[in-house]
Order: sequence, then C-alpha cells, then structure tokens
Amino acid sequence: MTYLKLINYYSKVTPSYRPTKLLQDPITRVWLDEQVLMNFYKMNQALQKEGLSALVLVSGYRAFALQKKLYNQQVENLVRLSAPFEDISALVTYLPAGTSEHQSGLCMDVCTAYMQQNFEELSQFEYTFHKKWLDSKGAEFGFILRYPKDKEHITHVKYKPYHYRYVGVNHAQKMRKQNLCLEEYLSQHERLRYNNI
Ligand SMILES: [Zn+2]
Repeated sequence: MTYLKLINYYSKVTPSYRPTKLLQDPITRVWLDEQVLMNFYKMNQALQKEGLSALVLVSGYRAFALQKKLYNQQVENLVRLSAPFEDISALVTYLPAGTSEHQSGLCMDVCTAYMQQNFEELSQFEYTFHKKWLDSKGAEFGFILRYPKDKEHITHVKYKPYHYRYVGVNHAQKMRKQNLCLEEYLSQHERLRYNNI
C-alpha cells in the first residue's frame, strides 16, 4: 500500500474499499493503519519528552457507511436549523463518503487532553502548542497537515488544523520543506517521473 494514496473529490474510493492492515488504539478505540498508529505513538512520546501533554486520537479509520452517515447527519442538522444553502456547504466539516481519506486509515483527527475534558471543538486545536509542535516536527514522523489554510483553493477542503495525514518520513519532509500539499506534491512527482529525472 502506498502511503501517498490520494483521496479527494476527483479521486474517490469505492464503497467496498477497505484498508487491510488496521490496528486499534486500546485507549481511544480509534482504528488506524498499523504503521500510522506506530508512528503516532512514536511522535506522541517525543512530544511528551518535550513537556507537552499527550495528543488524543479523536478519529481515524471510518468505513464508507459511517462517513456517509456522519456527513448526512451534519447536513440534515443544518437544514433543520434553516441554515441558508450557501452556509451549509461552508459549515459542513465532514466530507462526502468516497472523498474522505478517513476511509484509508492513513489520517487522524487529534486534540489535547484539555480540549477533550472541556468538550472544546476540534477547531480550537489551532491555538494549542501541540499544533505548533506538529507543524514543525510532525514531518519527522511522517505526518503532514493535510488541509492547510493557504491551500484551500487546491485541496478544495476547508482548513482543518486538527487533521494530520501520514505519508512517510521522506515524503513528509520534502512536502514541508517545499510547502506543498499532497495534490501539489503528487503532480510534481508525476512530472518528475515523466521527465525521467
Ligand atoms: Zn479528519
């Protein structure tokens, strides 16, 4: 399995798609690809060595049906609240089934213990030291911020400060150094391969 797998609106996964090597975190019961989970543990240890509290896994692998349910529920709630149509698309945080990389087990939503205890929204992760730490050191463990604020026009997904994707250390470090999101990195990769460089 390639850790560069692209899943988005233009590159969907089928309803029957299911990753093969999933492992469950015993504390949060979140499922992730086994290598992703191992690297998450490694990263969490490094983070704690520097005096920060452990990161909490909020969400990892989601089956197609669950993704569909979460998305539909969120849309229905907004409709019930009579949100104007244009607001609904702006307010929905779940991606439609088939377009979410949560179905791959390669990404995770995280928060801090403080956020969890205080029932804070995931968007508050933006203001944590953990976020700063992840942005500077996450790549050393293979993780990238998948939907950055300055790449919304390319990913077509609203900025998600809490959503990190595993792509492997080598690729993550290159992407971070060149400030490329996954879509940009893959198209550059294709070009390089085509030109045999
Ligand atoms: Zn997510």
